[in-house]
Parts: sequence; structure tokens; C-alpha cells
Amino acid sequence: AAVMAPAHLGEATHCPYCALQCGMNVRRDGDGAITITPRDDVPANAGALCQKGWTAGALLTGDARLTTPLARADRAARLEPVGYDEALDQVADRLRDLRERYGPDAVAVFGGGGLTNEKAYQLGKFARVALGTSQIDYNGRFCMSSAAAAAGRAFGLDRGLPFPITDIAAAEVVLMAGGNVAETMPPFMRHLKNTLIVVDPRETRTARQAALHLKITPGTDLALALGLLHIALTEGHADLGYIAARTAGFDAVRASVATWWPERAERVTGVPAAAMRRAVELLGGARTAMILTGRGAEQHAKGADTVTGFINLALALGLPGRPGSGYGCVTGQGNGQGGREHGQKADQLPGYRRIDDPAARAHVAGVWGVDPADLPGPGRSAYELLDALGTPGGPRALLVFGSNPVVSAPRARHIAGRLAALDLLVVADVVLSETAALADVVLPVTQWAEEHGTMTNLEGRVLLRRRAVDPPPGVRGDLAVMAGLAARLGHGAKFSADPGIVFDELRRASAGGPADYSGITYERIAAETGVFWPAPAGGHPGTPRPFLDRFPTPDGRARFVPVGHRPPAEEVDDDYPYYLTTGRVLAQYQSGAQTRRIAALNEAAPETFVEMHPDLAARLGVTVGDPVRITSRRGSTEAAARVTPAIRHDTVFMPFHWEGANHLTNPALDPLSRMPEFKVCAVHLARGGPA
Ligand code: SF4
Repeated sequence: AAVMAPAHLGEATHCPYCALQCGMNVRRDGDGAITITPRDDVPANAGALCQKGWTAGALLTGDARLTTPLARADRAARLEPVGYDEALDQVADRLRDLRERYGPDAVAVFGGGGLTNEKAYQLGKFARVALGTSQIDYNGRFCMSSAAAAAGRAFGLDRGLPFPITDIAAAEVVLMAGGNVAETMPPFMRHLKNTLIVVDPRETRTARQAALHLKITPGTDLALALGLLHIALTEGHADLGYIAARTAGFDAVRASVATWWPERAERVTGVPAAAMRRAVELLGGARTAMILTGRGAEQHAKGADTVTGFINLALALGLPGRPGSGYGCVTGQGNGQGGREHGQKADQLPGYRRIDDPAARAHVAGVWGVDPADLPGPGRSAYELLDALGTPGGPRALLVFGSNPVVSAPRARHIAGRLAALDLLVVADVVLSETAALADVVLPVTQWAEEHGTMTNLEGRVLLRRRAVDPPPGVRGDLAVMAGLAARLGHGAKFSADPGIVFDELRRASAGGPADYSGITYERIAAETGVFWPAPAGGHPGTPRPFLDRFPTPDGRARFVPVGHRPPAEEVDDDYPYYLTTGRVLAQYQSGAQTRRIAALNEAAPETFVEMHPDLAARLGVTVGDPVRITSRRGSTEAAARVTPAIRHDTVFMPFHWEGANHLTNPALDPLSRMPEFKVCAVHLARGGPA
């Protein structure tokens, strides 16, 4: 396959943003201007980019770029420029002091799903070896953790899409539960060629292209999945041969949905029983079909069970592990997949191993040259970690790499307060994000097209990002920051600033684990335009479709798991009578730290808004553009009204790319995945503006 762009196109690499990881060529001209062109050889985008990708060059040239470390003498002082070594000295001295006074768990680390595999891997090792802390988690906990937990429980393995993305075009029918890919990753739409069913409380861009839109009440996706499964089982759509040959646990699930007759599911979800029947007929009548979930179904205090409900439906229809069919999670963040495999999660070691597994501890400790008994963990999950900062017994220092929790965490104002209560906050980032602005020390780091590294996209395909341009003088890589701090803490020999060296170590650490990268090299990725894990050493071709012959469970069968519906953690009442749901818009990405600093994207999506039905707007006495005050039990914010019949009467929507939406959201956690309930909370609405 052609992988190197002709020289006049620049270096062949991948987009800085979402999990589609569109292939692009990046070229810096003599006058410093950046030119981006899409690559044709990467199947995920095959020559297409969205507006975020087309404008990504501005990240490399923009004025907002941090180029000098900043530090403040105390919380009342301003951030002032400081030399890089001086900044690292200062951080290491203060970490050492806090560790001596309060123990190793006084220092915490917060990573990100946008970090390369090398960074995610080294960050987990840095926390456990150089800092000796169990307190590490990352923002992917807020993203794919529910789907990951559910897939692991059902299939014995979580690999977002357990098939190449190009297989989706072979599915005659696709049900997308809670994903708005037409807005979040538009090139994905070219893979949705056939009949599409969308589950969403809003008539999104994706829903508008669907043959059937199930306009669900927020927080009731699981009841819908139970209702759909009831119909499939009682109206002759179950694939009993597949169930007998490839699954276990069916009888308990059949019993658990016996009372979910369509009328009951209609009452709970607001979706007409006839529409549910139509969805099942389409899925059950197709020769090939897929069920995909996105954050809409997953970001709930019952997110893992909700995804399990959709997996049970897929298993009953005989889809997973059959060509052109299956269940998959549409991963969101750029390295959302790889970011959850290499050890920056509180409960995990590299290779997608559990940190409480003695064999995994022994293997990884061997690669790291430490005693397994010295490996700490498991630690707190992301929200629990942020919520514990600065509390008695909680961490007193936090190091943040590639995340902006002041905007992206639930109950965000409270989290900003926790950050303010720390003795030390260190943020490594490319720009002065809202979180970096609160830090005691800010470390400017290199970004996507300025460095080599691997990313694992939503298909589980390991990709190579290449350095296309030089970073600004004075900026260091995240790996160099970790290595520099480790050296100052007496562990220098165990850490490298070179991504190639770190990747070779990651390969050894992952060997034998579920996410085995040991047979993957930079050279091989370049020659094959990506390699699907698992790819053990010894010439293994990689695994595009890991479930074709058997599931990686002890008996090779997928598991049906009975799950029960429960209402949202917070239901509407007289004081808070409307549902708020949150999501994304095309021109912005995640917390907006990067995209809000790009002029063209800001022009397209300049500010937050609250979307509501015209009947609701009339009741509030507001018209388009009027300020609306939105209040939940956790906080209050204002946004301009956007009025559209595309949303339910009882629900408002806010994008979370700006501060505000997450002041309102509910940190109620899923008991299995520890995912907060971003997608539904109860709010009060009033006309805003001057009293
Ligand atoms: Fe592709 Fe996502 Fe980048 Fe858009 S943001 S160009 S969909 S990788």
C-alpha cells in the first residue's frame, strides 16, 4: 500500500483529533504556511476530512501556542515565564517533599485519551515506578469506559469496532444508539451506505439521514434495548442456532426481558411500539446487520448495563463474530482505544491487563525491572480522583497530561474548586487551557505533527503519526517531561524521551496480554498502513476480526448478561422539570482547548447555546438568541436559545465544548465502569439576561 505521501504533499500522518484518525499529509512551506491534504490510502477517511481536520494546521502556527514554561510563586501570584529545567527542578522538589510528608499516594496523575500509545504507556509507568502512586486515571473514563466494561464482560475483549470500519458498508442495516457521527466524525458517514436506524432524543444530522429515528426520552436507552430484545425473542427474530453454538447465559436473559412487552417499553422510553417493531424487523430481516453504540447510550450511571442491553440484542440476532455483522462501540477521542490499553487507567497495566492480576503484575514488573510487590494500585477512577483532590487523605498534588477537566469533568465548578485546594497543580499542554490557567507550573509540550508516535483508531488499527514539522524552540515532548522528572526523582535510567524506544518497551510489556502489540513495529505500520491488534510477535498478520471463530472467553462463547432498567440518577420534578443532555457540534472538539483557538472553527461555532423545542421556548417567553438561564442541583449557567422542533419537548441540549454545560451535569457514577451520568440530568429553565 502507498503510505508515504509524495514529497510535494509533505509527511503522511494523522489528524490531531477524533478516533477516526483520518489520514492526512502535512507540509510546511518555505514561508511557514501549513498545507493539509487528505490521504487516500487510509480506509477510515479515504480522501475525506471534516472541517476540524482541514483547519488543523492552525494548531501548528497559532499565536495561542505555549512556548515557555510558566510558574507562579504562590496561588495569589501570576504565572511567569521560567526556564524548562528550572520548572522541572521546582516540580520534582515539591513532589519529593509532598511524598516524604504524606506518602506516595499524595501525588496523582491525570492522563488523556488523546495521548499517543507511547505517552499513555510511559505515563502509567511514570506514576507507578517514578512516583510510586496508585492515583492515576484519565479522561477516557468519561468517554468509552461503559462500552469497554460491557464488551469485556460479554466478549472477553474490548476492541471498539471488532472489525475494519469498511465492513460497516457490508451491513444491510445499522442501528446507531446514541451516536451523532455526521457531526462528530463526518467521514464515518461514507461507511453507512445502507439502512440506518438512529436512537437519539434529538433529530441530529445523523438521525436526519436515518430510515428510522427512535426519538427516545433521555436516560431510557436500556429500557429500549430490553423492549427491542423482547420483540426479537417473541416475534421470531432470534437466531437460535447461533445462540446455541456461540453464546452462554441466554436463558437468564430471556427470562429477564419477559415483562418488557412493547407497550411497557413505549411508556418508559417514549418510543412508539410500532417503531420498535419496525426496528427489530429491519435488523432481524437483514442478512447482515450491526448495532453500534456511542456516548449517548454510554454516558450514564447505568451505561455499562445499557451497552450490555444492546449487546444482548446483537447476540440474540446472531450478529457478533459474523462477517458484515456485529456489535461495536464508536470510540470518540483520538487515541480513545489505545489510551485505554496501556496502563493510564487506575485498574490497569499495559497490554490491557488487570492490575490486580498477579501474572500481569509479574510480567510488567519484569519489563520495568521492579519488584511486583512494589507496583501500587488499583487507584481511584477519574471523577473519584478529581473529587478527592485536596481533601483529608486525598492527593495533594496533581500532574495533568493532555486533559482539561475544568471544562470536561462533570460538576466542573466543584472540580475547579478541588484543583484550587491542591498544594501543587502541574499541567503539560499545548495551550493555556482553563485547567492550565489554574496551575502552579505549566509545561509546554509538542503535539501531533511535531513528533512521532502511534495511535490506535476506533477499529483497533495501530497507526503511525509522523513528525511533519519542527516544534517551536523551547518546547519539549511529554515523554521528555516524564523522563526529566523521573531522572530528578532518581529513576532516570528507566525512562526515555524517544518514542521509538518507548514503543519497543510497550511491545514487550504488552506481549501475551489481550492487547498484544509485540509483533507491531513502526516499519510494519508504515508498510501496511496500520496493523490491527492483537498482533503477537513472530510474523502474526494482525487481527482485523477477532471474534470470527471464537470469543476470547474461557469457553470461547460470548456471554449474555441479564440487566435491568433503572431510571436516571436524577429524574425531573417540580423544581427541575426538564432534562438536559449534552453533546458535540461539528466545528468544535471535546473541551475546545484546541478548536476554540482556531479562527475558522470559531466562526462556524463561536459560542455555547441551549437547544429547545419551540413550544418550550414559547412557554419560557424566549426566541432565538435570547439568553436562557439553565440551573441544576449543581450549578447554573447562561446560554443563548436555539429553537428547533428537532428536539423533544421535555429536553434541552447543550454542547460541552465551552465552560457551562458541565457546571450542570451529574457525577453519579456507573457501578462497573465508573462513568459519570453526563447524558442526563434535571434542570430548571428561565429567561436569562439582566434582571
Ligand atoms: Fe477525521 Fe475526526 Fe479529524 Fe474530522 S476530527 S478530520 S473526522 S479524524
